[in-house]
Amino acid sequence: MPNARRVIILGSGSAGLTAAIYAARAQLRPLVIAGRERGGQLTLTTDVENYPGFAEAIQGPELMETMRRQAERFDVDFIDGDATAADFGRRPFMITAEENDLAAEAVIIATGAGTNWLGLPNEQRLIGHGISSCAPCDAFFFRGKEVAVVGGGDSAMEEALVLTKFATQVTIIHRRDRFRASKIMVDRALRHAKIQVLWNTVVDDVIGNGSVSGLRLRDVTTGTQRDFRVDGLFVAIGHHPNTELFRGQIELDDLGFVVLKDRMMTSVEGVFAAGDVHDRRYRQAVTAAGYGCMAAMEAEKYLEGH
Ligand code: NAP
Repeated sequence: MPNARRVIILGSGSAGLTAAIYAARAQLRPLVIAGRERGGQLTLTTDVENYPGFAEAIQGPELMETMRRQAERFDVDFIDGDATAADFGRRPFMITAEENDLAAEAVIIATGAGTNWLGLPNEQRLIGHGISSCAPCDAFFFRGKEVAVVGGGDSAMEEALVLTKFATQVTIIHRRDRFRASKIMVDRALRHAKIQVLWNTVVDDVIGNGSVSGLRLRDVTTGTQRDFRVDGLFVAIGHHPNTELFRGQIELDDLGFVVLKDRMMTSVEGVFAAGDVHDRRYRQAVTAAGYGCMAAMEAEKYLEGH
């Protein structure tokens, strides 16, 4: 069989790369389908201060490059593209990636999560023209400008803090009257002179022809609408699991997260999952790495028995 593998790992965030390191060291010679946007969500962040082993903050992209180099020290092959089809209804399992048909005895799904957008009438048209979900990537374009961030989690705080390095004013817009972000991040944001908060407020639409020039806001307590002038909007309202490819083949929950049945195994025996693709609760770089390790060890045990 061409391109037959013992284990194929889908995704190259901290779950996928940790799974690759463990699977390689177990002599399984894994193939990683790394995705076009290799490295996962950490490549969209700046300072990572809570990944153990780094006394000083490490930059997200640097952490992921280091993990990749660590995996490359072992017997790991990479395809830097997306998986476009998966068939778990036959054995070996079949995966298509970048026009390669690949067979695998075991699969580890570590495809992570993607940005949630607000779903506003003018949102998609203005992404890249004032609307972004990645302050570390795009903050530079807002030097001397005013921007807004939507959301109340750690991502929103982080985006706002990054934006203060370039923008003159950063307004966090949150639909409730308290943030869900961790206390340390909230304190940092609220203490910053450039950051203000609009509580109990939602964005009804984005205003702008060629690029963003303002937002239509609504106070959810009074229902009153008003226009708010900004040059940019950063959307930080969470993520959704990247599981479209597997819909109908493995069990997913109501939000599309992979359901684990036993020891990192999905509803299909031999198909494992690790990281943000199944984890609705912790969603941290270090927990994803831990899940990657567990999935690889379970895949190894499964393969020993088959
Ligand atoms: P999150 O914790 O799920 O927060 C999403 C925020 O967006 C919530 O405040 C939510 O409001 C708001 N929201 C959701 N849908 C909305 C909508 N349609 N309109 C307006 N607001 C909406 O997501 P996250 O901030 O991306 O964080 C995800 C995980 O990564 C968390 O576990 C977080 O701790 C972690 N993380 C950690 C760090 C760090 O440690 N430095 C940095 C980034 C992320 P409600 O509060 O009203 O639900």
